[in-house]
Amino acid sequence: MSREACALIDLDAVRDNLRVARAVAARSRVMAVIKSDGYGHGLVRVAQAIGEDVDAFAVTDLDEALALRRAGFNQRIVLLQGPFEAAEIPLAAAEQLELVIHSAWQIEAIEQAQVSAALQLWLKVDTGMHRLGFQADEVAAAWRRLTAIPAHTVNPEIGFMTHLACADDRDDTMTDRQIEAFEEACKDFGGPLSAANSAGLLGWLESHFDWVRPGIMLYGVSPFSDRQPLDFPLRPAMTLRGRIIAVKHLGAGQKVGYGATWSCPEDMPIGIVSIGYGDGYPRHAMHGTPVDVAGRRASLVGRISMDMLAVDLRGMVTLPAPGDPVTLWGEQPRPESVADSAGTIAYELFCRTPSRVRRVYLDDQ
Ligand SMILES: *Cc1c(COP(=O)(O)O)cnc(C)c1O
Repeated sequence: MSREACALIDLDAVRDNLRVARAVAARSRVMAVIKSDGYGHGLVRVAQAIGEDVDAFAVTDLDEALALRRAGFNQRIVLLQGPFEAAEIPLAAAEQLELVIHSAWQIEAIEQAQVSAALQLWLKVDTGMHRLGFQADEVAAAWRRLTAIPAHTVNPEIGFMTHLACADDRDDTMTDRQIEAFEEACKDFGGPLSAANSAGLLGWLESHFDWVRPGIMLYGVSPFSDRQPLDFPLRPAMTLRGRIIAVKHLGAGQKVGYGATWSCPEDMPIGIVSIGYGDGYPRHAMHGTPVDVAGRRASLVGRISMDMLAVDLRGMVTLPAPGDPVTLWGEQPRPESVADSAGTIAYELFCRTPSRVRRVYLDDQ
């Protein structure tokens, strides 16, 4: 029995989740966000699963974009933060990669660039997130500068993009203000508009515009921060899987794990599982976080070790045996509830699942 710590990646779930996005935003084109190695699910494998059904991919940087081109993808690919230095611009043009332009230095670099094909650009508008982008009153000047560049360097049809800061909270009024500010800032220029991340897509129909940019929902996670049940049938694509490697019977008062932070309230069985924080399981997950042991619910006790964690097996009529499968997140328990219990978000759980956790792909297509 080898140590088992693997992430099962269900590519059919990604395809189903994309169908949900398409159905909800039926009039918009879809830019599937597969940055950060497909949120830890594997850039190229995710792209292969959905490439035929999306209008563009969005990635973090040139490395990810070139990995897609090398793997044979000829779809539109958008670099969400544009070039990080001037030298990337000719390469982006040669590979037909679209650039998000958020700063004056990028415009200057494009004005001076020698390119072999016209660049497709998106102008980033800061409508309140205050991270990247031009302020509303700077947009016209930025657009004029870019459209003054000859058409063999810059395609004059420039897109506009903004990012929503609070769309994950359906009661927050900031999203409406951002949407209004975006429309107002871009109304004179033509060109496609894009504002919606997953939360915008599912929660704010008026944010859809011409292009939606779903990320986390493709991987089956609710983008909303509240605990309300999601009205959409998203299926988690990643299942973090380990095994029971030992079952022990401890007496009342005996302690479990580093720091001896948890003690048995009664004589009880404890299971030791082959997953720890070295596998991306969050060390801050609280006692009581749900863990699925061979299809039955158990819960975390004691501190998480690097390669192991302990679970409370009380309440199981038949105890699991070494080798039995354990699900740390997936269909049950959901990644959202594990993240919640560790004071983080599922995005971080996925992105922090290290490469030593073997990805095993399920693909029925
Ligand atoms: C990451 C990202 C998205 C996708 O966000 P989700 O919340 O994962 O849907 C969309 N747009 C931009 C600019 C992003 O950086």
